[in-house]
Amino acid sequence: MKSFEELLAGSVAAHGHLCPGQIVGVRMAMLGLRLLDFEAPPTYPQLKQLIVFIEMDRCTGDAVAFVTNAKLGRRSLKFVDYGIMAATFINLETSRAYRVISTEEARDLAPLYAPREPDKRGRQLEAYRVMPDSVLFRVQEVKVDLTPYDLPGPTRSKVACVRCGQVVRDGREVVWDGRPYCRPCAQGGYFRDARDIAWDRMNWSPQLQMEEMEPRPGAEQFAERPSC
Ligand SMILES: [Zn+2]
Ligand SMILES: [Zn+2]
Repeated sequence: MKSFEELLAGSVAAHGHLCPGQIVGVRMAMLGLRLLDFEAPPTYPQLKQLIVFIEMDRCTGDAVAFVTNAKLGRRSLKFVDYGIMAATFINLETSRAYRVISTEEARDLAPLYAPREPDKRGRQLEAYRVMPDSVLFRVQEVKVDLTPYDLPGPTRSKVACVRCGQVVRDGREVVWDGRPYCRPCAQGGYFRDARDIAWDRMNWSPQLQMEEMEPRPGAEQFAERPSC
């Protein structure tokens, strides 16, 4: 178990600066973990049971990810682009889930909690440290329907889009008339006018870079292989 100040220091280092969002995010994660009776940061067995949904790609999201140790690559971190300052903390073992929402009132009340700070940012930095959770957040108990396709572990399905050929993993395809499509083909994507290009420097590989460098690094640095 780490203190608020220790978690904040780590989060600031990972995020790159101290900001009101870091303070709110660290506290949001600490509250979410406390609601699940988990430590902050979670112990390894707790980490295996934890899924976190983050509803905004703002400073606060980095702090929540840092404190919970939830990661996209482990499928324990889910980003849903709602533009809402909220995160949901789920215990997979018990299915208990709590959605913690940052209140707008906390912004309005910042001057009350930090009357001596001259500017808005200073007031927020100070106030968000001292406000009780009950002012800073609303908490909802929620049900989150996760399927096996959402969970960590090996890829559970792979199908090729019938239009573009792209392989889609974990049931994220859209089925029309019984045929699978990737979401960009079925619904449109965040990109448009996609066009495959050839580029002469596509022949690059790390092997080439190693050959250019002297002395050549030994192979032993690659000896340790990750388990995933
Ligand atoms: Zn920030
Ligand atoms: Zn496609």
